[in-house]
Amino acid sequence: MSAEEFNRKQIAEGKLTDSMITKLVEAWQRGQLGLTVDGYAGENTLSSLSRGSEIEKFWPLACLEDGRKPQITSGFYTENPSRSTHHGVDLFFKWLDSDPDVPTGDGGAIKKNGKRRWWYPPGTVAIAAADGVVQASDDTGTGHRVWVDHGNGERTGYFHGSKLLVAKGDVVLAGTPLIVVGDNPKGHDAKHLHFEVSPVDKYAPKNPRTWLTGASFR
Ligand SMILES: [Zn+2]
Repeated sequence: MSAEEFNRKQIAEGKLTDSMITKLVEAWQRGQLGLTVDGYAGENTLSSLSRGSEIEKFWPLACLEDGRKPQITSGFYTENPSRSTHHGVDLFFKWLDSDPDVPTGDGGAIKKNGKRRWWYPPGTVAIAAADGVVQASDDTGTGHRVWVDHGNGERTGYFHGSKLLVAKGDVVLAGTPLIVVGDNPKGHDAKHLHFEVSPVDKYAPKNPRTWLTGASFR
């Protein structure tokens, strides 16, 4: 007999009561970010229960107002032979003729025709790529950096910020602004977001392309 069949029998026999189920709902809500602990199995609680421990993933940058999406311009080292220590991906928006001609591109940012290739609107923020708790928020040799622990064994890292917008221990929801995108003071690659994914308990970066492939936009 499966646990589901057993529990159905317990309900049918009145052994697993409504008040016990309500306590179970409260216990679930207590363990999830963004749910109100009230014992009511409403829409948000039900969709959280049906997702289980799977988390909802998003891109770490929102689309621009005109719908432009960020894209990977420099890949993870396993698919980037020229950058053997690149433990994440670099993200940029495509530069359009209507954008100001300011130096916000990386090394390959100028096309043969002299026009820019990539672009970041001033003040662009990196946002949490899923619900979580801020594990680190500090200034490093490569600019301001934030790590978010997503409670599923994974964490995401946001690098090269010019300003920190959260502090260690903050609870964040997918879409919460974390850093203002800035420069890597060590590189010559200009303003951009470097994004990483790693297990929480050790630094063992995975290819963020896997995360981004299954992710939605805010
Ligand atoms: Zn990078």
